[in-house]
Amino acid sequence: MGETLAGRRLLQWYLEAGVDETIQDEAVDRYAVAEEKARVAVAAPPVSSAAPETAAPRTPGFADAARAPAAIPSRERPTPGGDEAVRSAVALAQDAGSVAALRDALLGFDSCALAKTATNLVLYDGNPKAAVMFVGEAPGAEEDRQGLPFVGASGKLLDRMLASIGLDRTRAFISNTVFWRPPGNRTPTTQEMAICMPFLERLIELVGPRVLVTLGGPAAKSVLAESAGVSKLRGRWFSYSTPRLSRPIPATAMYHPAYLLRSPAQKRDAWRDLLALRKRLETEAE
Ligand code: URA
Repeated sequence: MGETLAGRRLLQWYLEAGVDETIQDEAVDRYAVAEEKARVAVAAPPVSSAAPETAAPRTPGFADAARAPAAIPSRERPTPGGDEAVRSAVALAQDAGSVAALRDALLGFDSCALAKTATNLVLYDGNPKAAVMFVGEAPGAEEDRQGLPFVGASGKLLDRMLASIGLDRTRAFISNTVFWRPPGNRTPTTQEMAICMPFLERLIELVGPRVLVTLGGPAAKSVLAESAGVSKLRGRWFSYSTPRLSRPIPATAMYHPAYLLRSPAQKRDAWRDLLALRKRLETEAE
């Protein structure tokens, strides 16, 4: 009974620390492994460069493992430097001639550390021919499980927000600043967003929406390249352009639905923003 409770508390502690997926069946005590390696390394005789080549073959043991160049499992290999990863993202993204090709490129892209801990790629939901594109922050646990953005609690609110101005996922396109869930739902780092940005930029070019909407502070910062907080950016219009877009896209920032769930008093401003969006979509359609 006591043990079950302690076990539950430990699992709860893991969940709160962001550990919500098991990667191996058996738990590995990394402290014990490190101690054992250190103990064996001290006990092992130094390797002599003059060791006779004819020495009898030995069965590799712990000591060999401690001295041999480690074969690092791919999951633990360091990702290339940020610049190199961004360069490779730019090359792959620029080559993608369709949303499907972009998805394929991302499935083979291993220079973003987030891809190593996520269960699924979360690229988009909705209609790639939609007039409006929303960019959120990052997939959460439910999005990671389903491989679709905004399908958890904040997604349900986003759906209600869309419905309030006559939209749904057949008439909107939804993506994020990063395409894999950050462990423990933390905010994606600047580097993770920079590595995903070439793909997001290409996605915007391929969809070519009439209006672009960022949801929350991190998306506003990275897409609109503005440093102010979202409360200062919402209610304003910006111009989003890339060399491959035939015309700049009007863009605006809105509060993130997850923030609105925590701060319902801000829904009044969010409603104003939705009305402004509806109006802008009407004028852009003329
Ligand atoms: N929050 C986001 O920013 N994106 C999602 O896809 C889900 C929650």
